[in-house]
Amino acid sequence: KQQQMLAKVSEPALTADGHRLEVLANIGSSAEVENIFRFGAEGIGLYRTEMAFMDRPQPPSEEELFWHYSKVLQRANGKPVIFRTIDIGGDKPVEYLNIPEEENPFLGYRAIRIYPEFIGLYRTQLAAILRASAEGNAKIMIPMIASVEEVIWCRSVLEEVKAELKLRALPFNDAIEMGVMLEVPSVLFAVTEIARHADFFSVGSNDLTQYLFAADRGNTRVEKVYDHYSPAFLRALKFAVDGVHREGRWIGICGELAADPLLLPVLAGLGFDELSMSASAIPAIKNDISGLSLVKCRSLVAKVLAAGNSSEVKSLLISPDVAVDIP
Ligand code: PEP
Ligand code: MG
Repeated sequence: KQQQMLAKVSEPALTADGHRLEVLANIGSSAEVENIFRFGAEGIGLYRTEMAFMDRPQPPSEEELFWHYSKVLQRANGKPVIFRTIDIGGDKPVEYLNIPEEENPFLGYRAIRIYPEFIGLYRTQLAAILRASAEGNAKIMIPMIASVEEVIWCRSVLEEVKAELKLRALPFNDAIEMGVMLEVPSVLFAVTEIARHADFFSVGSNDLTQYLFAADRGNTRVEKVYDHYSPAFLRALKFAVDGVHREGRWIGICGELAADPLLLPVLAGLGFDELSMSASAIPAIKNDISGLSLVKCRSLVAKVLAAGNSSEVKSLLISPDVAVDIP
C-alpha cells in the first residue's frame, strides 16, 4: 500500500470518476520549500509569511524578502505559490510594532487590521512579492478580511505599489491574482461584493471555526464547542462554496481540516477546488481522493447537512459509502 501511495504521489489528484481536486502544501518559511514536492504538493496553497517578521529587533528589508520569495518561486518551478500577507499583531505580538497588549487579541488588532497604520511594512512586503512574481506563479492572499471595504483598500495599495515598481523599472506580473482568506464569518454574507474585488477565496478553517462558535482555537476547555463535525459548521462551508462558485471564483481550504481523512469525502462533495495542508499529509490524502466517487460524495454531503448533530455526522463519516463501485 505504501508503495502504491508513493507511485501516485507525483500525479495530480483525481477522484475515481475523474474530478480534479488540487492538493497543495502549507509552509511557514522559505526553507520548507525544499521538502514539500517529494510529498506530491501541486504548489503552495498557504505560505504563512509572518514567521520572517517575528522574533527579531527590526522588520526584514524588501531585498531580504525578495530573496526568500524568489527562492520559493524558483523551487516551485511554475507551480502556484500563494503568499499570505503578514498575519501579525494580536496573539502573534511583534516587539518593533509596539502594539499595546489587548484583552481579546483574537478579536483585536491583527493582520489586515494593522496594515493601514504600518503601511510601510505592508508595501514593502507587496513590493517583494511583486518583484518575485516575475520568476514564477505567485498569488497574494489577505488574512482576516471581514468586509469588502478592506478588500478594496488592499487592491488600491497593490495598484500603488505596482506603479512604484514601474517607476523603478522592475519587472513583475501585472496580472497577479489577489484572493482573500475566508476565516471571519461576516465574509460568508459578503461573498458577492467581495468576489468583485478578489480572484479567489481560501477557507481558514482554524479561525472560521473559532469565530463561528466563539471558541478560542487553542483553549482545551472549550474544545468541544470548537466542532468541525457540527452540521452548523458544515452548512457554513456549503454556503461558502456555493456562494463563491455562483460568483465564478474558485475556493480552497487551508486550515487543519483540509488534512482530515474523515471529512475528505465531504470537502470533495461540497465542491472545494483545492486543499492545502502540511506536506506530510499529502500522500495519504491524494491516495484517498483517487478512491472516491464524487457522485457518492455528493450524496454523503446531502445526508451530513441534514444530520441533527455532530455525533450523527460522525457516524455517517465512519464507514461512508463513497468508493467507486468496482464492476
Ligand atoms: C486558519 O485560520 O485556518 C489558517 C489557515 O490560518 P492560521 O492558522 O495561520 O491562522
Ligand atoms: Mg487564520
